[in-house]
Amino acid sequence: MTMRINQPTIAEKESLRSTHVEVDLAQLSRNLEAIRARVAPAKVMIVVKANAYGHGLREVACHLAPQADYIGVAVLEEGILLREAGVDKPILVMGGIWGNQIPAYIQYDLTLTAPSVERLEQIEQAAAALGKKAKVHLKIDTGMERIGVHYYNAHTLQEAALKCRHVEVEGIYSHFANADAADLSHARLQLERFCDVLHFYEQRSLPMPLRHMANSGAILQLPESYFDMVRPGILLYGIYPSAEVKRSVDVQPALTWKSRVVYFKVTQPGHPVSYGSTWQSDHPVRIVTIPVGYGDGYFRAMSNKAQVIIHGRKYPQVGRICMDQIMVNIEADSAFNGDEVILIGASGGERITAEDLADWAGTIPYEVLTNINTRVPRVYKR
Ligand SMILES: *Cc1c(COP(=O)(O)O)cnc(C)c1O
Repeated sequence: MTMRINQPTIAEKESLRSTHVEVDLAQLSRNLEAIRARVAPAKVMIVVKANAYGHGLREVACHLAPQADYIGVAVLEEGILLREAGVDKPILVMGGIWGNQIPAYIQYDLTLTAPSVERLEQIEQAAAALGKKAKVHLKIDTGMERIGVHYYNAHTLQEAALKCRHVEVEGIYSHFANADAADLSHARLQLERFCDVLHFYEQRSLPMPLRHMANSGAILQLPESYFDMVRPGILLYGIYPSAEVKRSVDVQPALTWKSRVVYFKVTQPGHPVSYGSTWQSDHPVRIVTIPVGYGDGYFRAMSNKAQVIIHGRKYPQVGRICMDQIMVNIEADSAFNGDEVILIGASGGERITAEDLADWAGTIPYEVLTNINTRVPRVYKR
């Protein structure tokens, strides 16, 4: 006998799993428009790597693609997933390439990053073998030491590209290491190095490829770096890349992380809470249990530091964060089974941000967002 289970609708999924993420797609659109207004006439590449910074790769990219000029991902699989989802905008894979992957890039019409002469030649050969033209952006390392030809050797890659018959050099780009810092001296040095590399085309009266360099930090702080296109990631999701960065574009977070109360009890003094017995009260307190933990991406390092919002009030998480559950001290207040709990988001004038979680966990908001596990369903508000 076979049993058939119908796929639950979004509303049913939301009610089945008490812990979920809500993504406001309209807010993402507003953030993109705010960025576009700031950088115009430069084009905008939306960066949707790492599951769109935890917001959901397929849904975010499909929603924003009509508004975007280009889409940026980190790895080949992300690009393929978007093509299979029907995204037809140009897609640049920004990460490094392993030789055997090259035919797949060409087959899925993904733009390749060429970070060295050797890799460029492999791309040329693979494209020739397929009888196709590969679209490529040259990657120049101006001071990140990650991938890309060093700026002081860039001409070797630029010259090699001129000899390729099966490669179209559509773009050329670099990446900032410190554009979100208060001190922009290193970013300015990188910018100068990139400009020097671009002189190659002017000196030879060659057409200039599409130039791009600015990440979120540079969009906020370095208008000189916009060139022909910018590459916002974190800013698109309504979060500023650092505490010290100039907030020159007005954006709002689009992600809310919610759960529900699943257990209530009174805990007596002398009865410590959770693994390791790291916390106890000196008077009877009401403790509620919430079904979220480090297995969902709620960092264990936040134990005894995190807060949540219930009924518009902030309460402290107490004891060690477990894999699937946390305990919260609501003192003498009341909360009932099924009551909503905000882990990231706002309610009743209180707000908990990805930056707050980053502070409690000793990390950055980027890691907070990308760490929200795929076990947590994403629900989309349109
Ligand atoms: C991740 C990434 C970006 C976006 O960075 P944000 O700081 O999130 O804006 C841009 N360019 C490259 C090459 C990246 O890897």
